[in-house]
Amino acid sequence: MPDFTPDLKAMQADLHALARIESPSTDPAAIARVMDVVEGWARDLGADTHALGGGTRLFNFGVDSAGAGGSAHGQTTPGLQVHRRPVLVLTHADTVWPHGTLEHMPLREDGVRLYGPGTYDMKAGIVGLFHALRSLRGEWPQGGVQVLLSPDEETGSLSSRAHIENAARCARVALVVEPPVADTHALKTGRKGTGSYLLTFTGVASHAGNKPEEGASAVTAAAQATLDLQALARPDLGTTVSVGLIRGGSAVNVIPAHATLEIDLRVSTLAEADRVDGAVQAWTPSDPRVTVQVTGGLNRPPFEQSEGTLALYAQAREIARDLGFDLTHAVVGGGSDGNFTAPIVPTLDGLGAPGDGAHAQHEHVRLDRWPDHVRLLARLLREI
Ligand SMILES: [Zn+2]
Repeated sequence: MPDFTPDLKAMQADLHALARIESPSTDPAAIARVMDVVEGWARDLGADTHALGGGTRLFNFGVDSAGAGGSAHGQTTPGLQVHRRPVLVLTHADTVWPHGTLEHMPLREDGVRLYGPGTYDMKAGIVGLFHALRSLRGEWPQGGVQVLLSPDEETGSLSSRAHIENAARCARVALVVEPPVADTHALKTGRKGTGSYLLTFTGVASHAGNKPEEGASAVTAAAQATLDLQALARPDLGTTVSVGLIRGGSAVNVIPAHATLEIDLRVSTLAEADRVDGAVQAWTPSDPRVTVQVTGGLNRPPFEQSEGTLALYAQAREIARDLGFDLTHAVVGGGSDGNFTAPIVPTLDGLGAPGDGAHAQHEHVRLDRWPDHVRLLARLLREI
């Protein structure tokens, strides 16, 4: 098959079209507008398209659904022989940016950079994927390609998680078109698991001057918990624990009866998640008049680097070498929907567009590096 030269101008135009539609995770109608555009591209390529519950969409390209018990939802079955299973590609249509962001952070091009909210994470990933799919000209890999478009990745994939896991159970491999690592453009072969906790403290209010001994301070308990729980971090094992939010009290002259704190947790292994969870659940205030209620836990399990993932990466690196560029890989702290598929099926992440500034003012795509990564993705889809 002749090598494919991505049409950068057309990719830029498609990226402008998607990024012009602001799609914060909190607005399902806005996210559906982005999905409608992408679904149009999928239909043009002959996909079967499916709307799953909760706003997730699934597009099947040449997927063998023979004997598929779950075909009502566009799913193949876990029982299918491996070579008849599709390559699953994960994408998301939501961004972290609220409506109105384009007014102060407009889409703009400056040399080799295309700036704008949601470009790098991950609308350019979606655009590059569709240009790669188009280059296959209907010659899908064995088992076909299944593209899952999630509406809520940035808020933890609460509505799409079950669909993602179902699709992974039926897939041969999972590819994630989240962006590669900034600067190095490395693919992602592992990610930390992510979790969060909300602790609510209830004490006893009292006059801070007249009867302080009758009060039981929820703020003191929250402060003690902050120190104790952050001490659970084991950076050497990849475990970080950070109290990012703390609130409490009602007035400066009142012993505070109420406080809350929120904890961000990152772990490299499930064993570490269990250790921290046990300690958080067991923590008790030293003043028995203060009670604490704990909610939360691990949201995304760790995406532990597996042999299957490294084999996929090795294949990608060979292709990149053949295409004339160097590729590296890395394990990163942030989670993605790849964390849900990695425990089920070999998963390779970071196959989106190179750039920098995810969730930041300088979010941008590197136009000079983007075509190489689209060529890489096209070859992977063809040869995997
Ligand atoms: Zn993303």
